[in-house]
Amino acid sequence: MMKRNLIGLLLFSIWGTLHSQQYTGPIIDMHIHAYNQELGGMMFGMDHPNPLKNELYKGVKTPEAQKMETLKKMDEHNIVLALTSNGQLWKNDDPERILVSGRNMPLEQLRSMAENGELTAIGELNPFYRGVTADDASLRPLFDLAEEMNIPIGFHIMPGGPPSGLYHLGMNEIRVRNANPKQLEEVLVEHPNLKIYVMHGGWPYLEDMKAMLYVHPQLYLDVAAIDWVLPKAEFHNFIKGLVDAGFGKRIMFGTDQMMWPETIDIAIDAINSADFLTLEQKEDIFYDNAAEFLGLSASLIAKHKKL
Ligand SMILES: [Zn+2]
Repeated sequence: MMKRNLIGLLLFSIWGTLHSQQYTGPIIDMHIHAYNQELGGMMFGMDHPNPLKNELYKGVKTPEAQKMETLKKMDEHNIVLALTSNGQLWKNDDPERILVSGRNMPLEQLRSMAENGELTAIGELNPFYRGVTADDASLRPLFDLAEEMNIPIGFHIMPGGPPSGLYHLGMNEIRVRNANPKQLEEVLVEHPNLKIYVMHGGWPYLEDMKAMLYVHPQLYLDVAAIDWVLPKAEFHNFIKGLVDAGFGKRIMFGTDQMMWPETIDIAIDAINSADFLTLEQKEDIFYDNAAEFLGLSASLIAKHKKL
């Protein structure tokens, strides 16, 4: 009897080692949004239905709640850095953790923020919602500036918006034909020193994304939103395809938390529950790849990892 228990215990621990190792170290979230009343507008208090999973996410009602509940989730999950669109709104509340990603401001303001060390990235850029793709000439000055200042760009590529946003939310410039990651190719060729990451991973264009990563070594991606909006099996298929193709070092974690704090829990679980990832691969996605992309100092990494 004793022997059987021991064998059971042994098998259980081997299974645990091989399959469901949970990553509990520090996390970098490459894709968060801060809002004030004006920027968040009608999204405050809006619950988010997810027809792909038959779930509903509860919306926060005020800018203060959005900030406090998001920071609380970050504490809970050991999110040590958060690259935040309009992060200037939260910077003073949590200066060590919040990294500012600038958007929707004049070029000269972005330049002066970059010069003053107040800007970690430019993004989220989402001209997609206006029916404009990355290779449009109107965006060139932003890419030029980012390359010149050595500031990364986060570029939204996804066929959305929320599922069916075109119809239910009147996002009427959304077109699937503008959602392929290949739209970045000429930008990358023209800006060989530009650091850029595809927000939302280029889903569902797995094969095109592999081709882009293969040809363009400076291209990274985040898995924000697809890690909570997609059914887990589809999300896992997508990242498994990228990892199997050898691109596990270019995938960065992100949530795209906007108004729905519980999506942070779902996003983290989506990576942690991926049985095909080793603990090291999870660490790459949750922290190491972003640390490399952002060029974090060895001392800051050691501090985060408590080395
Ligand atoms: Zn986006």
